[in-house]
Amino acid sequence: MVKTDFGPPKYLDMMSDLCKRNYGKWKYHEVLDTGTLVHVSESGEKLYTVRAATPRLMHIDTVRAFCDLADKYCGGFFRFTSRHSVEFLIEDEANIEPLKAELHAMGYTPGGVGNTISNMLHTQGWIHCHTPAIDASGIVKSVMDEVFEYYKEAKLPARLRLALACCLNMCGAVHCSDVAIVGVHRVPPKVQDDKISKMCEIPNVVAACPTRAIRPEPAKKSVVVNDERCMYCGNCYTMCPAMPIFDPKNDGAAIFVGGKVSDARHPAMFSKLAVPYIPNEPPRWPTLVKTIRLLIDVYAKDAKEGERYGEWINRIGWEKFFQVTGLPFTDKHIDDYIFSVPTFRSTATFKW
Ligand code: SF4
Ligand code: SF4
Repeated sequence: MVKTDFGPPKYLDMMSDLCKRNYGKWKYHEVLDTGTLVHVSESGEKLYTVRAATPRLMHIDTVRAFCDLADKYCGGFFRFTSRHSVEFLIEDEANIEPLKAELHAMGYTPGGVGNTISNMLHTQGWIHCHTPAIDASGIVKSVMDEVFEYYKEAKLPARLRLALACCLNMCGAVHCSDVAIVGVHRVPPKVQDDKISKMCEIPNVVAACPTRAIRPEPAKKSVVVNDERCMYCGNCYTMCPAMPIFDPKNDGAAIFVGGKVSDARHPAMFSKLAVPYIPNEPPRWPTLVKTIRLLIDVYAKDAKEGERYGEWINRIGWEKFFQVTGLPFTDKHIDDYIFSVPTFRSTATFKW
């Protein structure tokens, strides 16, 4: 048979027999420790999960080593999560500790389960994408090194999800994570008149701008940007490589806090701006790392048991949030736009 669909295989094809038998019948799950979960089915069958953070970009030898571990301890079944953790799905409880010992020996510490920070969801950064304002892998490594204790020990009031997106296109879930880093450009794109007509579809470029800052310049077979209207989103550069927006001196990171996907206790929430700009400081981004550490430390000390980051801020109020963190409140934080009617964009909880 000719295979014409290159999409993912049907999910059931990738499940173990135990998972197939209990599909739709899982009754509850429990956290056994910061690296291990157990799911219990209505039938009484159990599935254990051992989770460990990965750097996302891995050598093929590492992937093969994970495959070998999965063959040895869990019938070949493991998966990568959207936060770039590796999860081994184990049926025999006796295999948990030997697997963990082998992961440790490879340099991978089980963790990120329960009231911890899980691995950091992140995007491509300088290594791959063309629009980033910040790196991804370098910052993630620097931040995770600093907050590692919160990953391997349950020292937080509730789970804390970290995310990073290296531009406002936001391939990472920064809008709904507890603490999130976003790359921000701060100058308009530079129009390369000599290249535009050869590389870009001008009507598409004009249409790509959300603020209508771009208009055609027929005499030059190019476009003009109204700098006053530009919000540095980089949409035009995504459409047209002859409008580069990156700028080593002005690009940097903003930090957002308080988002979550879960509907538990409080409906899902969008994150909000906490820090408008921190410059790029490779290779270890000390100011950014220090600020993330501060945000997590203050939450760990001040929040009540079970309170997610945004719930904590809602309880104490944003004024107090800026007091207890010592972060400056600036004009960039003023967010007072409202819609006359609620739209999909005004809530993280879609209502169909
Ligand atoms: Fe590229 Fe932006 Fe996505 Fe980063 S967030 S990978 S820069 S599109
Ligand atoms: Fe428009 Fe965004 Fe390009 Fe500025 S960066 S011109 S707002 S598309």
